[in-house]
Amino acid sequence: MLRAIARGEIRVRRSARRKKTISVSKEVDTFVLSTPARYSVENNIRSLTQLLNRLAARDHSSASDLVGLADEMSQRYFGGRLRPQSIRWVTNQNVSRWASTTTSTGDIRISHRLQSVPRWVLETVVVHELAHLQIGPHSAEFHALADRHPRQSEAKLYLDGFSAGEHFSRGS
Ligand SMILES: [Zn+2]
Repeated sequence: MLRAIARGEIRVRRSARRKKTISVSKEVDTFVLSTPARYSVENNIRSLTQLLNRLAARDHSSASDLVGLADEMSQRYFGGRLRPQSIRWVTNQNVSRWASTTTSTGDIRISHRLQSVPRWVLETVVVHELAHLQIGPHSAEFHALADRHPRQSEAKLYLDGFSAGEHFSRGS
């Protein structure tokens, strides 16, 4: 969590007026932790982590709005330039794939298995697919575009683990 603070994903806002309670809100993609002036983040890591995890879990439902997410990612990383013709969840996706883009039609399909991953992971998948609207193959040029989302490599690790977990729970 301290690393997330260092990376700017969590901002701590101290207030002299706030006496005891802390609260968390979300501003775009940053969690804002409002605390009393003398509150020690270091001494409360466990309860803060639980609080943020609860909030992140609640965030999953909003990720079902793929159209809004694609729009947000396009604005943030591509100046609004890359927009799919359609983007939706599918349940018949090939098991080894998380998502696919038909470059000729601009249709993006996202595996429903990703409905349970954290939002930042889904963001990287959407950014990857948006990049395919411009470049088909996984060339250096493509990765330069897709890697505009700063957590692409982290997400790849997450998804490798997520996939292994799925296989494990299926017993195969
Ligand atoms: Zn790809």
